Amino acid sequence: MSDCLFCKIVAGEIPSAKVFEDEELLAFEDISPAAPVHVLIIPKIHLDSIHEAGEEHKELIGRIHLAAGRIAAERGLAEGGYRIVNNCGADGGQTVPHLHFHLLGGRAMTWPPG
Ligand code: AMP
Ligand code: ZN
Repeated sequence: MSDCLFCKIVAGEIPSAKVFEDEELLAFEDISPAAPVHVLIIPKIHLDSIHEAGEEHKELIGRIHLAAGRIAAERGLAEGGYRIVNNCGADGGQTVPHLHFHLLGGRAMTWPPG
């Protein structure tokens, strides 16, 4: 996906403030944070959204959530809590069409979302 913003971040063609990286995942600071902690966790492979994920991706999706939990603990959010968000498609509010999960924390959040 040569014109995908997050693929370019994975490739190092666009800079990011990296939080965590392994063979399959990348986590980096959201450029426009919506909370004191706002980290994006993405698979290095391109999937448009969670809707594109299949059985073959279930371990990857699980690993993303475990990574989010570890990052939350590193940022001191284990006690206060945090939120992991995936926006899918237009109605879900997804603006970047490369699967990503938001880790948000450091303030109390409301529910339901707007
Ligand atoms: P979503 O609306 O769920 O698709 O989330 C996309 C997120 O990507 C937003 O929170 C943006 O602030 C964030 N974002 C867009 N461009 C960049 C970038 N270059 N580096 C880091 N985060 C970005
Ligand atoms: Zn991509």
